[in-house]
Amino acid sequence: MKVTDHITKANGKTMFSFEIIPPVKGRNIQELYNNIDPLMEFNPPFIDVTTSREEFVYIDREGLLDKKLTRMRPGTVGICASIKHKYNVDTIPHVLCGGFTKEETEYLLVDCHYLGIDNVMALRGDAMKEEKFFKPTAGGHPFALDLVKQIRDLNCGKYLHEVIETDDCADFCIGVAGYPEKHLEAPSLKSDLIRLKEKVDGGADYVVTQMFFDNKKYFEFVDAAREIGITVPIIPGIKPIAVKRHLQILPQVFKIDLPQDLIDAVDNCKDNKAVRQVGIEWAIQQSVELKKAGVPLLHYYSMGKSDNVKAIAKAIF
Ligand code: FAD
Repeated sequence: MKVTDHITKANGKTMFSFEIIPPVKGRNIQELYNNIDPLMEFNPPFIDVTTSREEFVYIDREGLLDKKLTRMRPGTVGICASIKHKYNVDTIPHVLCGGFTKEETEYLLVDCHYLGIDNVMALRGDAMKEEKFFKPTAGGHPFALDLVKQIRDLNCGKYLHEVIETDDCADFCIGVAGYPEKHLEAPSLKSDLIRLKEKVDGGADYVVTQMFFDNKKYFEFVDAAREIGITVPIIPGIKPIAVKRHLQILPQVFKIDLPQDLIDAVDNCKDNKAVRQVGIEWAIQQSVELKKAGVPLLHYYSMGKSDNVKAIAKAIF
């Protein structure tokens, strides 16, 4: 079922959903299931599965380094299919511009359609590890908007090189990313919001936000989005802080601010077990307020281990 239909069906009740990352290549998928199992009692209407950018690896061949391109966490669509089958839950693959030609994206979307996947999250993707800035892949899209348009076209039977009259057209519900504290490359929050509006006008049906730790940022973002005519659901993304290093990594990677109270609480922790507890309590506080404000879903970034998301969900749902 489409995300938008799940929201309509919930009739104002806040739902629980979460995002997972595929295992590192060669690892057992059972590890993933072990982390999903404890969260299923909270009845997520859907689970998001991320896609990783490809990266370079260097293979030592008798003193000479051979540079190869590889994807460390492949399998997004396969994982979506396996989770959908195992848990009877909707799954949402993240589809990236970066690392894919338009043709490869078309084939991926065709796979998703055959698998009965009703939703896709359309994202540009970040720069590759070795690149300072995002470089569009040859034959791929430069912005998420272009990907949204490709998916919307496919929904009308418009493939890349032909229009196909069919009674079995895809009808993907399209999610896109939104940034309460602006995307790191955007010159201003206002211009980033205008870009978001372009994605919605281009065919996106809902928005999921980047993590934020101060709900005020989310509420202001939603107000500003509504003001410029973005009417689709804006789902808040929540990440529980889990290790002390997050104080440095999160602002560095995502260019987000952390509230001083949260920084102080984490700084006062003796070890990462205590930090994990602070992260849980902070996310519970955020979730309580967001739920009270009537958000359609609380969407958690689980990043592998789900014990903290379970503790939060237990307190909220
Ligand atoms: P876009 O919407 O294309 O925007 C990128 C930047 O370009 C913004 O600064 C925007 O303001 C600007 N821009 C847009 N259009 C134009 C234009 N025409 N001219 C000039 N500038 C323009 N990354 C992954 O690699 N895998 C994932 O699975 C993944 N999942 C995510 C899930 C969520 C909920 C979120 C919030 C992010 C996720 N990301 C993921 C990260 C995302 O790929 C990065 O944040 C990426 O840098 C931007 O993606 P986007 O889709 O927002 O890009």
